[in-house]
Amino acid sequence: MNKYVTHLECSLTKEKYPKDKVLELSQAGRPLLVKYDLERINSEISKDSFKDSALPGFWRYYPLLPISDLQSIVSLGETITPLIDISDQYSNNLVLIKDEGKLPTGSFKARGLALAVAMAKELKIDHLAIPTNGNAGAALAAYASRAKIKSSVFCPNDTPAINIMETKLMGAETYLIDGLINDCGKIVIEGKESEGWFDVSTLKEPYRLEGKKTMGIELLEQLHWKLPDAIFYPTGGGTGLIGMWKAFNELYDMGWIEKPFPRMYAVQSSGCAPIVRAFQAAEKFAELWEQPTSQPWGIRVPVAVGDFLILDALYESQGSAYAVDDTEVILKRNTLAGQGIMLCPEGAATALALDYALENGDIGPNESVVLFNCANGLKYPM
Ligand SMILES: *Cc1c(COP(=O)(O)O)cnc(C)c1O
Repeated sequence: MNKYVTHLECSLTKEKYPKDKVLELSQAGRPLLVKYDLERINSEISKDSFKDSALPGFWRYYPLLPISDLQSIVSLGETITPLIDISDQYSNNLVLIKDEGKLPTGSFKARGLALAVAMAKELKIDHLAIPTNGNAGAALAAYASRAKIKSSVFCPNDTPAINIMETKLMGAETYLIDGLINDCGKIVIEGKESEGWFDVSTLKEPYRLEGKKTMGIELLEQLHWKLPDAIFYPTGGGTGLIGMWKAFNELYDMGWIEKPFPRMYAVQSSGCAPIVRAFQAAEKFAELWEQPTSQPWGIRVPVAVGDFLILDALYESQGSAYAVDDTEVILKRNTLAGQGIMLCPEGAATALALDYALENGDIGPNESVVLFNCANGLKYPM
């Protein structure tokens, strides 16, 4: 593992774990976080060094990633994703869309799974399994096949057809399940023993989060290390939000950025909004959302193992959580598309939540906002 990594740590109990071991969840059943010697990184690396890197996209941040050396990189042509300025749609705000749909397999799941697969290669794991609403399975299929590692993907049977087809075509054993993503997750747990799979579910291994962390570093580098006032994130398992929050804390501890951090806004569908419900009740954890009625998008996640990490980031940043209606989301998607901005439904959900936040004063005039569009809009029914 990277020489700057000191150890891993349980995100709940802070119990320490050694690096260079095959690890999943902590003893407490919660996500493990990779810990770095940040002082040493800061003394050896400058934040201005990344822009001259010849490495593709987020791989340029490898000193802050767990991989041992550049040999571990599995690349499908990662790119720095663009910031699209849509401020002209607003009276007084700077509004940028970080368009993650430009990554390999058309979604930001590439960031996390590229890292998980690179680490699986280092740790000599030969068969990865994942529950997915579509994009994570596709990204796993692509990176695992590229690394000559086997993959099995389990998705709800109403997953968008294009996700199922791309996943199969890119070499994953693909199974449609009569149930939701958490039901798919249970099948993966059963197969760990009987089939010898390694479970790469959201936050159940430590490295997808490190990949998602690059979203925060990349965003700030693009903004010349100046932090936006608010970030709107379509929240399922929450890896991206937790990953960005981890990035901000690490960058702060290295003295590369200053506080205040951006206010974090989690956006969910009103038919499946466990994080919004828990936030409104000021809870530490989020209960399972029974019988979701929302559409099969990346944010239909009834229960998240990193729930308290999402909620901590919302509370600490003095952000909030919004539930939005699926029908209105599609209307918003269509309106923006008519202006040449084709988002995925999850991305459109963040734009809709921003409308509410401007209306109720959560976002003030002159504040700068970043919306996350996490997949290519072309992957969805139109
Ligand atoms: C997976 C996914 C999300 C949710 O991401 P998490 O980090 O799991 O919360 C949002 N949008 C799209 C398009 C996704 O594929």
